Amino acid sequence: MHEFQSEKLKELRKKQAITQMELASMLGVSDRAVSKWEKGISAPSSKHLLALGKIFNISVEYFYGGKKNIDSAAAEKGMESLKELYKIGRGPSSSHTIGPEKACMIFKKKNPNADKFKVVLYGSLAKTGKGHGSDVVIRKTFAPKECEVEFNYLESKIPHPNTMDIFAIKDGKIIDKTRVLSVGGGSIAFENKFSPSKDKPYKINHFSAISKYCRENQIRLWEFAMENEDTEFYDYMKKAWEAMKQSIKRGLNDEGVLPGGLNVQKKAKSLIESQHIDETRETRENRMVCAYAFAVSEQNAAGETIVTAPTCGAAGVVPAVLYYQQQKNSYTDDEIIKALISAGLIGNIIKTNASISGAECGCQAEIGSACAMASAALAELFGLSLDKIEYAAEIAIEHHLGLTCDPICGLVQIPCIERNAVAAMRAINAVNLASFLWDSRKISFDKVVQTMKETGHDLSSSYKETSEAGLAKINL
Ligand code: SF4
Repeated sequence: MHEFQSEKLKELRKKQAITQMELASMLGVSDRAVSKWEKGISAPSSKHLLALGKIFNISVEYFYGGKKNIDSAAAEKGMESLKELYKIGRGPSSSHTIGPEKACMIFKKKNPNADKFKVVLYGSLAKTGKGHGSDVVIRKTFAPKECEVEFNYLESKIPHPNTMDIFAIKDGKIIDKTRVLSVGGGSIAFENKFSPSKDKPYKINHFSAISKYCRENQIRLWEFAMENEDTEFYDYMKKAWEAMKQSIKRGLNDEGVLPGGLNVQKKAKSLIESQHIDETRETRENRMVCAYAFAVSEQNAAGETIVTAPTCGAAGVVPAVLYYQQQKNSYTDDEIIKALISAGLIGNIIKTNASISGAECGCQAEIGSACAMASAALAELFGLSLDKIEYAAEIAIEHHLGLTCDPICGLVQIPCIERNAVAAMRAINAVNLASFLWDSRKISFDKVVQTMKETGHDLSSSYKETSEAGLAKINL
């Protein structure tokens, strides 16, 4: 057991010339509480430790001599329901269509007396909003009332790469306004007070803490989720799996050209119907898995209904891997749903501790996260141990580190569709590797998630869903 090192707090505070009273007011506690922490009479709660970490820009571990694991209860801030991760909605982009649509619906309901609305899009929402169809979705949401959509490409002082301002107008005057951040996977955050507060049914949010709990209580990951979610959760997951299957089936029967002007042909049908000249079992497996991933991703690009897993752009990876297993090994829907729930925990851990937004951390946060989720799902389906599930998810995301988001013309087509297929195959490989090498693992899943976040923040914004660099520079 490592003790809170009170002298370190005092040292940090003095170094930054902050008084006990100032620190107390930043934390919303009394100055006597800070004094007691510095004297070692008591220790800050988990919530206050996290806040101290942010104020001094250090890890919680620092207060424990670097020995306390960052995954300890002190760093736990809870997680939202998996229903917030697996959203059933229309593509092509969770942060550019599902998120703005949700924000506009809430704002419209709050302002029934407005005669028109105006929305200003900033950052990635402005730069790739046209390609993703953000303006179309926004106008449709406010219809029949008029809505002007402005793309502001220049403003750089924004709190999140996907920021939007919404105005309600009556008799030519602004009667209400709000700023909304579309933070990834269709989730939104309002800057002002009418934001509905988010429930966090999970009290812990790092893999190490969750796996510790599962070991102590001898339960699997999906059972841990069931303990935390509400009574409607399982039925919701059934619906989500059904929607995933439907998107595959529709995609396999669909043909033609995707909208947007790139002249991209839908390929899922031809992939499922063709055969390699010298088709082995392995080649067939690749072809089938890719066909399923293409099917969902093409449905997403066409604006059809898919399930975010964890986002629209990366929606093909998880269903492709699971659907292939169901076809091949006749797993029941119940078994698949349990695997999907375990995968959801992996996605939720990434969403909570790092990001699942391409605009915030690049494609590693979308496709990398989807690959980690698919690996965990498959490992769960195979009944592998917690260590192996963790290792599979860790391998999957580790080898996507640094992956940029550079969709051509801002459309979720090139490289996105193929990328889903490649990630689905990688997920299978990650599980195979993890099942053999798990006992020599050196890096925890939580650490690689932290690394993904840091890498994402270091990436230039040109590579984060702005269509300014990389593949997006190619003229087709
Ligand atoms: S490149 Fe990746 S992150 Fe970017 S839109 Fe495509 S799938 Fe999403």
